Amino acid sequence: MKKIVLATANTHKVIEFQRILNELVSDLELVPASDFLGVPEVAETGATFAENALIKARAINVFTKLPALADDSGLVVDALNGLPGIFSARYAGLTATDAENVEKLLIEIKDISPHLLFARFECAIALVDSQQNLELVVEGQMPGQVIKEVRGENGFGYDPVFVPQGLAKTSAELSDQEKDQISHRGIALRKIAVLLKQLA
Ligand code: IMP
Repeated sequence: MKKIVLATANTHKVIEFQRILNELVSDLELVPASDFLGVPEVAETGATFAENALIKARAINVFTKLPALADDSGLVVDALNGLPGIFSARYAGLTATDAENVEKLLIEIKDISPHLLFARFECAIALVDSQQNLELVVEGQMPGQVIKEVRGENGFGYDPVFVPQGLAKTSAELSDQEKDQISHRGIALRKIAVLLKQLA
């Protein structure tokens, strides 16, 4: 069985990774980086989702000597010049909760017409295995709109204020399976799954 370390401490993401990849790739053991004693905190110093994903995957690969997968993702709101973007997790401050980030977003968009609230979730996933001379990044997007009220109990982060294109529900009102089919992370993970199968 191929062991791959997941360079994320976000349990929601670990669950989404495991749910999607375990279905698509057999013989894969996904181990969260937090299972390794003394694992370093990696600062997201890149300017793009792809750069940040690579920085995290490289650092965890160096530390664990195992192939490492990392993702960086966030919500890009056109009318806010792309914010919160790569700052999505820390929009309301370094230790902000999901609820605090959503609250800040609702304040920032309060004077913007609902018709102009185009947005998208973006996700970059990096796979790094220096022992195999391998570094690659795949990306996925989920277009839609942000809304000015919170709806739904599923998902995490900005899901309760994001309505995917063509739907009337927020992504927090979708089932896990419905979200996986269209989500930025689902799209990127299906691309990585193809590559992982080829590498296996
Ligand atoms: P990261 O750990 O730096 O990639 O943080 C990504 C942040 O973007 C999360 O903390 C969420 O706030 C937001 N985000 C990314 N993907 C999703 C999603 O699928 N639903 C809701 N929010 C998301």
